[in-house]
Amino acid sequence: MLHLDQIQSVFEEIDYKLNEPLKGYTYTKVGGPADVLFFPKNKFELAKIVHYANKQDIPWMVLGNASNIIVRDKGIRGFVIMFDKLNAVTVNGYTIEAEAGANLIQTTRVALYHSLTGFEFACGIPGSIGGAVYMNAGAYGGEVSNILVSAQLLTKEGEVITVEGRDMKFGYRHSMVQDTGAIVISAKFALKPGTYEIIKQEMDRLTHLRELKQPLEYPSCGSVFKRPVGHFAGQLIMEAGLKGRRIGGVEVSEKHAGFMINVADGTASDYEALIAHVIETVEQNSGIRLEREVRIIGE
Ligand SMILES: Cc1cc2nc3c(=O)[nH]c(=O)nc-3n(C[C@H](O)[C@H](O)[C@H](O)COP(=O)(O)OP(=O)(O)OC[C@H]3O[C@@H](n4cnc5c(N)ncnc54)[C@H](O)[C@@H]3O)c2cc1C
Repeated sequence: MLHLDQIQSVFEEIDYKLNEPLKGYTYTKVGGPADVLFFPKNKFELAKIVHYANKQDIPWMVLGNASNIIVRDKGIRGFVIMFDKLNAVTVNGYTIEAEAGANLIQTTRVALYHSLTGFEFACGIPGSIGGAVYMNAGAYGGEVSNILVSAQLLTKEGEVITVEGRDMKFGYRHSMVQDTGAIVISAKFALKPGTYEIIKQEMDRLTHLRELKQPLEYPSCGSVFKRPVGHFAGQLIMEAGLKGRRIGGVEVSEKHAGFMINVADGTASDYEALIAHVIETVEQNSGIRLEREVRIIGE
């Protein structure tokens, strides 16, 4: 049971906010409040929060940069943990180690600064390191699984373990973290020595491609749907005549039909209704049932 009056005495040294609206943290700019939103500064604080929640039977979940989730309008009961304060990035030879809350885009810039190649594919993915490992984030032919050496995890039972990249059961936008419910604490990536100018050119090229194709000027959660085998979700949505279709304040992007943008103070309910409408209409039109990539959480 969650007794808010106990939180202060139990978590004196840990930063948290009570009843904190999540729309200020999510890329979609929608989402109701978290009962308690924690910002642990190290893995010991993280373990303490999880341990307490488990013991008291309080539901908890972690969020990275909230770039691949939709939080429902009534928010999230229990504890939400964010990693903004666990964000160190260290370089050791050709290896980069980054804590869960490190910004993925910033981490690719650290690689560039050290003339290390292999991370260019991620230079425009607005997630955190933890979220990127969880999702096996990828773009333009690269993905996290190609460069991950190992990840440090906090298991659901509260144990800190290190898992080798080859044991992470990576698949398309999938890792074993999704099956086990563990928390990514940090990740180690193996890169190769490269040439600063060439790495920068590639990152500039990929950034330019994104700016051309994606509606980055609006709040969104990136591609809403997984790529169906042999097809592109955006293409199927376009062929179903859904470009520009709007429910409430949320719209299927004219620029990239795989994106849904929050154009006018939209809500999570608008997102959910539009997603359901798109899935149904695309299936009627093409026979293909789109599968969501973005996660929908909360009440
Ligand atoms: C404009 C835009 C462009 C995008 N382009 C791409 C792209 O090219 N390729 C791509 O793959 N994705 C893309 N995305 C989606 C998103 O950025 C990625 O999926 C990213 O990896 C999500 O990371 P996050 O930290 O934001 O995770 P969140 O959205 O915060 O969370 C996603 C899931 O990860 C879990 N999670 C987060 N942190 C941890 C942790 N430390 N331990 C355990 N679980 C955790 C959460 O519980 C949740 O279930 C895009 C999104 C946007 C808005």
